[in-house]
Amino acid sequence: MKTGVENQKQSVFIDRYAVFNWKMNPATLAESDDIFDALKKASAKMRKTLSVVCPPSVFLDHLAWDYKGKRIAFGAQDGFHEEKGSWTGQVSYNQLKHVGANWAIINHSERKKLGEQKENGRRKMDACLKLGMNIVLCIGEDARDTQGTHFKFIEEEIRYFLRGLEDADREKVIIAYEPIWAIGASHSASSHDVHEMCLYIRKILTLLYGSDVARVFPLLYGGSVDDTNASHLLDNGQLSGFLIGRASLDPSQFEAILTALDKAVIPHGVSSE
Ligand code: PEP
Repeated sequence: MKTGVENQKQSVFIDRYAVFNWKMNPATLAESDDIFDALKKASAKMRKTLSVVCPPSVFLDHLAWDYKGKRIAFGAQDGFHEEKGSWTGQVSYNQLKHVGANWAIINHSERKKLGEQKENGRRKMDACLKLGMNIVLCIGEDARDTQGTHFKFIEEEIRYFLRGLEDADREKVIIAYEPIWAIGASHSASSHDVHEMCLYIRKILTLLYGSDVARVFPLLYGGSVDDTNASHLLDNGQLSGFLIGRASLDPSQFEAILTALDKAVIPHGVSSE
């Protein structure tokens, strides 16, 4: 059972994750170098946290090719499920992996806004798993109502994306709870809402895999995480990290978030170096 991952390039034990989704930023390679340099400095101070940086794919090769450190991995924001062929404009996960991406963000709400259906998301996830990549599976409701339909929605997303996965593949998946209404917003979901949803997700995972798996399944939160709310969100003891959008471009913000995360008590609680 997974309680952490050995970072691919080294023997350091990691049990928490900061996934940096740069989206379509920054504008230039020089700026991406600056942000990445700051990330290298900040992440080198962390003991247990893996930073998974997901830059625009045009910068991936450049950033990843000479990184030899222990605390950063690289991920794809998106990719195409076919291996190769006549698919004008597409970039395959094989190609992304070839230039350094060992992780992939799947089912992000901004892909869905552009028309991606869950079937596409699942095809992408299956293509990545076939390549041995790690998955950040985003789930999250559009809105909430007093009837609690968001719980049903979350359950359906979990069941759809995890259905039929072999244990070895399932162990490559971490879940990022990203309520869509909190992404790019002026404030995050409340610590109470995140705590409640984490417990609910663990309940679903218990039904699917039993409590031993559910208890340690890494759950991340994403949606307007910054240096003012990270510690508070972690206080509930259910999170193993964050998916970070805007703050992942701002060195002072991400250093503070990483520091809070590295110090936090997280669900499985046991780590070794
Ligand atoms: C995201 O893009 O998944 C995200 C959480 O963005 P932000 O942190 O900017 O809300």
